[in-house]
Amino acid sequence: MPTNFNTLPNRNIYQPMINTSTVSNPVKKETAQQPQTEKGISKKALVGIGASLAAAATVGILLAKGNFRQAKQLAEHIDFKEAKTMDEAVQFAKENLGVKLQIGDNLDVANFLNEIFVDVNNKMKGKAVLPKKVKMQATNATDGLEGFASWNTKRVLKLGSDFEAIVNIGKEKRLTLKECIEYYKEFSKDKDPNFITRAIYHELGHANHKNFMKMRRLPELKADGNKDTHLTEEFLQDVKDNKVVHDFFDKNTSTRLDDGTIYSLSSPAEFVADTFSFKMLGKSIPEEVEKIYQKFGGPVIG
Ligand SMILES: [Zn+2]
Repeated sequence: MPTNFNTLPNRNIYQPMINTSTVSNPVKKETAQQPQTEKGISKKALVGIGASLAAAATVGILLAKGNFRQAKQLAEHIDFKEAKTMDEAVQFAKENLGVKLQIGDNLDVANFLNEIFVDVNNKMKGKAVLPKKVKMQATNATDGLEGFASWNTKRVLKLGSDFEAIVNIGKEKRLTLKECIEYYKEFSKDKDPNFITRAIYHELGHANHKNFMKMRRLPELKADGNKDTHLTEEFLQDVKDNKVVHDFFDKNTSTRLDDGTIYSLSSPAEFVADTFSFKMLGKSIPEEVEKIYQKFGGPVIG
């Protein structure tokens, strides 16, 4: 029997995630109650997806010490082909991208990721650093922030519990991940409607940002005993009174730290990753943002 969407106790699906999250609720989002959609899927449920995201930042994490080497020489241009089976998707990732997908039996997630990896590869003309492995696993930055997704220097892309929750909501409601993303765009009222897709590009922004380990948030650097904080400090000074930069991220992103800091402006690493994600999605970037992106070694695209 297919699940009847309308009778699902939506609140119970989302509430535990929100309550048990260790994230210090860095995102402020509206969660207005709304009536049923014509398709019989509760808008409130979809706003719930937004609310769950509200508990997560796209934290770039960076636990293990490692290196930056790319294992596989990638083709300058790869044609994305949607897989019809999980095996096919796993094989596509392995053979074309050098990526090991360890995400269970989630065909539409596999296709979603492969398409993004291909896009990044093609826009970077075969020079992109892609994950060695993708896993579904909750994950925390060294300063304790839990991530929606994360990247580490062993080139592992982790999809955190909120990402997994969205996948599970989709399964229960018989929606593909792409459909969930579309509903999120339409109903979440998030000023960052591409948040879910952008989160993956964001992590690949870390992946392709040389020396990003030295450009993390001050508490992250402190947490693993990194004494050289000059790049992050210089960045914080650069963006401090820059209205154009502030307004751009204030308008287009919704992730905030507890103290209200715009997450993108919390460190050069997060700034570069977010700017990279916007560029990948074809958004035009103010010159002032571009200048700082280049100054801190943002990956060259195209
Ligand atoms: Zn990040």
